[in-house]
Amino acid sequence: MNALIDTYKHQGKRNQLIELLQEKGIRDEAVLHAMAKIPRHWFMDSSFEDHAYQDKAFPIAAGQTISQPYTVAFQSELLAVKKEEKVLEIGTGSGYQTAVLCELGAKVYGIERQNILYKRTKRFLEKMGYYPKHLSFGDGYKGLPQHAPFDKIIVTCGAPKIPPALLNQLIIGGKMVIPLGEDPQIMTLLIRKSAKEIEKKEYGEFRFVPMLHEKN
Ligand code: SAH
Repeated sequence: MNALIDTYKHQGKRNQLIELLQEKGIRDEAVLHAMAKIPRHWFMDSSFEDHAYQDKAFPIAAGQTISQPYTVAFQSELLAVKKEEKVLEIGTGSGYQTAVLCELGAKVYGIERQNILYKRTKRFLEKMGYYPKHLSFGDGYKGLPQHAPFDKIIVTCGAPKIPPALLNQLIIGGKMVIPLGEDPQIMTLLIRKSAKEIEKKEYGEFRFVPMLHEKN
């Protein structure tokens, strides 16, 4: 990880990134404010530091990626997090999206299936001053039944289909944002209208690393 230094140069580049996100259609002030505040370069390997404020995904450990800023902004906007809501994130990865959710005032629960990322990110988030409620190592397909139900669920890897356990862990009226399909994925918003009824809205193509089953 980078030393936790955030210079005027970093902040300047970050402000330009936020302007770009606005040009690309992101409107949610709380999301833009959170992303303007969080030093994304802290979440990346120091060799990519100069590129941290480009609107691109970059490699992190274990063959995974830190999501593109536009994707983080888009998913966060769709999720429409309110303060104190319980949010489950599948795919903690670098922890950048986790930090955005923390800044939005959510009580964040996370699952990451790569142990190296789980351990490293848990430690680093605390060093940076972000305190998700609960991070765990495991298979996101199962969700976290012991902490359910959740107001919101965000999946940050590409899921071939909707994991049924996750839907069951959403409150009535709750929202799940999930990229569905192989490659590319379709960004999908699911709203749990009642015990049985799910409303589904689609928002175009995005590219994610695949959501893997435990056995893979
Ligand atoms: N939000 C992260 C995205 C990382 S990429 C960030 O911006 O850094 C997606 C992450 O999902 C990877 O870290 C990958 O290991 C994780 N992942 C893939 N399949 C998973 C599963 N079944 N359960 C939990 N995490 C999973």
